Amino acid sequence: MVFLKIKNVSHTYFTKTTATTALSDISLNIEEGEFISFIGPSGCGKTTLLSIIAGLLRPTEGVVTLEGKSINPKENDIGYMLQQDYLFPWKTIEENILLGLKISDRLDESKKQKTLELLNKMGLNGFEGQYPKQLSGGMRQRVALVRTLATEPKLLMLDEPFSALDFQTKLHLEDLVSETLKSFQKTAILVTHDIGEAIAMSDRIFLFSARPGQIHKTFLVPEELRHLPPFQARNHETYQQLFQIIWKELESFENTN
Ligand code: ADP
Ligand code: MG
Repeated sequence: MVFLKIKNVSHTYFTKTTATTALSDISLNIEEGEFISFIGPSGCGKTTLLSIIAGLLRPTEGVVTLEGKSINPKENDIGYMLQQDYLFPWKTIEENILLGLKISDRLDESKKQKTLELLNKMGLNGFEGQYPKQLSGGMRQRVALVRTLATEPKLLMLDEPFSALDFQTKLHLEDLVSETLKSFQKTAILVTHDIGEAIAMSDRIFLFSARPGQIHKTFLVPEELRHLPPFQARNHETYQQLFQIIWKELESFENTN
C-alpha cells in the first residue's frame, strides 16, 4: 500500500470578490521512510498543500490518504514544523516539548524520559528549565523538532524550517535533522527555497511551477548523495550537476513571468 497518496488535489481560495487557485491537479505518492522536498517559486501553493496533507484545510478537489485512510488532524499522525518555532514563551523548554503528549493525554514517565533523551541528543541537555527567549534561533528550532517528534508522528512536515537561520546554523541543523529522522526512519516532507538543501537532504524532489502550483518535474537524488550527511553531500560533484539542472528549471519559470 502507498504510504501517503495525494490524488488529483486542486485548491482554490475564495473571498467575497476573488478566487485564487493555489494548486491545480496535484497527484503524487510517497513511500514510508522517504524524505521528500517540495521546491518552487513563492506563492506556488507549497504551504497550502502541507495544510491539506495535515487535514487542516479541505481541498476544493481531490483526496489525500495516509496508509489508505483519510487524515484526521486529531489523531496526531502528522507532525508539522514551521519556519517560526511557535514555542510558548511562558512555558519552559521541558513544558514545551511535552505539551503535545500532554494535550493528547499520552504523557507518561517513559514517554517523558524518551523526549528528554531526544532533547539531550539535540545538544540541549541542561536547558530543560529555561525559557524560549533564553535560547538562540537555532536552539529553538531544535526544541521545536523535539516537540514535533515527541508525539511520534507517522509523517513529519517541515515548512522552511531553517530559512530564518544564519547559514552556518542552518548547515549544522540540516545534518542534525537528517541524522535524527534517519535514525527514526521517519517519512518527511520538506518545503524549502534552497535548491542545495533539497538535494542534500532528500531522496526525491518535486519542483512546482508558479501559481497555480502544479508538479513541473520530479528529480530522483542519486544514490551516492542520499547516503551522505547533507554537509558532505553539498561537496560532492554529483550535487553540483543536479543543482545546475534544477536551477535552470527554476529560472525558466522566472523568464516566462
Ligand atoms: P507557498 O507556500 O508556495 O509560498 P502558499 O500555499 O502560501 O504558497 O500560497 C499559494 C497561493 O494562495 C498564494 O497566491 C497565496 O496568496 C494564496 N493564499 C494562501 N493562503 C490563502 C488564504 N488563506 N486566503 C486566500 N489566499 C491564500
Ligand atoms: Mg509557504
